[in-house]
Amino acid sequence: MNAIATALPEEIVAATDGILNFVEHEVIPRHAKNHALFEDPRAVYREDGRFSDEVVALIREVRMASADAGFYHMCAPETIGGAGLGHLAYYVAWEALFHRCGPQNWLMLYALSHWAFGPSRLLEKVTEQACERFMPGLMDGSKSMCFGLSEPNAGSDASMLKTRAVKDGDGWRISGRKIWTSNAAVANYCVLFAITDAEKARTKQGGISAFIVPTDVPGFNVQRVIRLFGHIGGDEAELAFDDLYVEPWQVVGELNEGFKAALYGVSLGRIYNSARSVGYGRWALEKALDYANTREAFGATIANYQGVTFPLAESATELHAAHLMGLNAATLLDQGHSAIKELSMAKAYSVQVGFRAVDQAIQAHGAMGFTNELGLTHAWHSLRIVNVADGTNEILNRTIAQRLLKGDVAL
Ligand SMILES: Cc1cc2nc3c(=O)[nH]c(=O)nc-3n(C[C@H](O)[C@H](O)[C@H](O)COP(=O)(O)OP(=O)(O)OC[C@H]3O[C@@H](n4cnc5c(N)ncnc54)[C@H](O)[C@@H]3O)c2cc1C
Repeated sequence: MNAIATALPEEIVAATDGILNFVEHEVIPRHAKNHALFEDPRAVYREDGRFSDEVVALIREVRMASADAGFYHMCAPETIGGAGLGHLAYYVAWEALFHRCGPQNWLMLYALSHWAFGPSRLLEKVTEQACERFMPGLMDGSKSMCFGLSEPNAGSDASMLKTRAVKDGDGWRISGRKIWTSNAAVANYCVLFAITDAEKARTKQGGISAFIVPTDVPGFNVQRVIRLFGHIGGDEAELAFDDLYVEPWQVVGELNEGFKAALYGVSLGRIYNSARSVGYGRWALEKALDYANTREAFGATIANYQGVTFPLAESATELHAAHLMGLNAATLLDQGHSAIKELSMAKAYSVQVGFRAVDQAIQAHGAMGFTNELGLTHAWHSLRIVNVADGTNEILNRTIAQRLLKGDVAL
């Protein structure tokens, strides 16, 4: 049964079916085969908190197999060698992947290029030289990258960043620190943001530039992996740049206009996280419905009790609304609108209702809801984090309010 009246374009349906078929054959069996490895945190992470070599190899295998099958870079622009599908395709494919795989089959995260870890529209304006040098490895999935914007004193207000690029001959020397940079400990390249014109940056007239750099050059240091939620390892890292030399061909987009690229990257993150929230919420809701139909208490299945089913009905209603909002915001972006208000609404709302849906699903499972084998708490953890990553709910509300007060009251 289709709950959404507007049909998706055929190429998006075909691409989504294709990538779902890919995960069925290339991702889910890899999880089954490596069950023992994934069950043992000491085998998943090294002592310094990075992924173990076995896990890095499996992630790379999935990326490369998906690139080979034509899915990995399907949403990357054609100018850098992708298939050029847009924001709507990106939203639909991620929502479908999270919905199908849940948090347990997490190698799925590498079947489609994540906007910050692989080829995406963020790299549309790299120079020809950077394209020749970095794109082959990013496109075939053998290499990955990270996105270094946040700093210890620049989070929600990322324009407060202190990383400096000081002119040295034709190029620049970069010094500074980044924090929370996802994928940084294993990435081959980093798109980082630094001040190239202090006066412009101070007066918020630009002055921040984006550079793409290999992570194995002198001056690029991974200081530590950050561990979240009691995990013994993690995916986020702290970086330090010490006189890191970059040349003009490494500038991404226009010099001094990098903050626009940063904000666009964050927009892609908001689409991704809206899709993640709805996808996980639907996955959890369906688990709860199955359980309600089979678990018995007081002489009947718990599906007979409105105390169990009404919260699930509310979750379904909220997820449906969030799904429509995500589809709408992504479509507006494809139509060339900035959709700042609509995308902020979609992300803030999707995260709240996705998180609530997972929480309700845990409750409907009773004690079973807390077991690792069901994976519900993994989704719960994941969506709790999404409430902060790519813009906290407070910052999204701030953005929505600013737009409304400026007269953008279309709803
Ligand atoms: C898992 C994870 C992955 C991440 N990955 C990356 C990455 O790959 N690259 C990267 O650059 N960054 C990354 N980040 C960083 C992320 O973008 C920041 O955490 C986020 O922007 C919030 O910044 P902060 O954590 O410094 O919080 P702060 O800015 O310090 O905010 C603290 C609190 O104050 C509130 N607040 C701040 N200003 C206002 C205001 N004006 N009105 C109301 N409330 C306000 C916030 O909502 C929050 O509740 C990641 C974060 C997480 C959690």
